[in-house]
Amino acid sequence: MVIAIDGPAGAGKGTITKKVAEKLNLVYIDTGAMYRAVTLEAFRENSIDNEERIIDIAHRIKIKFDEEGKTFIDGIDVSREIRSTVVTSAVSKVSSIVKVREEMVKQQREMAKGLNVIMEGRDITTVVFPNADFKFYLDATVEERARRRQLQNEEKGITSNYEEIKQSIIDRDYNDMHKEVGALKRCDDQIYIDSTNMSIDEVVDFIIKKVGEVK
Ligand code: C5P
Repeated sequence: MVIAIDGPAGAGKGTITKKVAEKLNLVYIDTGAMYRAVTLEAFRENSIDNEERIIDIAHRIKIKFDEEGKTFIDGIDVSREIRSTVVTSAVSKVSSIVKVREEMVKQQREMAKGLNVIMEGRDITTVVFPNADFKFYLDATVEERARRRQLQNEEKGITSNYEEIKQSIIDRDYNDMHKEVGALKRCDDQIYIDSTNMSIDEVVDFIIKKVGEVK
């Protein structure tokens, strides 16, 4: 079984997907973490402005997840580093490179082979698994998404500015929705969820109920 979830930055896809995975005993695959890993490695190799080298990195590094959802590059845990502001601000540019996308999509399909998975990202319902058993589009207003991001930062002890967070979400949404390939899109066969006024658990229960109705 494949459950595919797409949606804009900060809609809660990560938290919600992880919870659904636990409850339904599915393998959780965070595809954003893969593009973030390529971006991090590009910075480390001083290659962030060199498309050819970034494409090489995308083919060369081994990206893996463990059962807790931690992300590894060539066996080393990079879960924290891939969430840094520097990586976040450059990831959309890296993920616009068509050959990087082709390689990530290939790896994502391989990771899911023979397993029951829940995969989240921007193009999972449209490109990676257009025939997924369940397709969701998880949304929330940009104000609510910025508010949640700021709360998350506070919990981690990071001070941040609401207006700056909001602007960076707006910019990332714009880039992610206007990509030549793999753009974030709404389509008719996605189940649309507006989580603006819903709690995490309400969204989790909604998804599980939908899956249960058909199973
Ligand atoms: O989901 P997350 O915010 O971690 O994703 C980071 C970035 O990776 C997105 O802003 C987007 O540019 C890219 N991405 C993508 N396709 C996916 C998942 C993420 O282009 N399937």
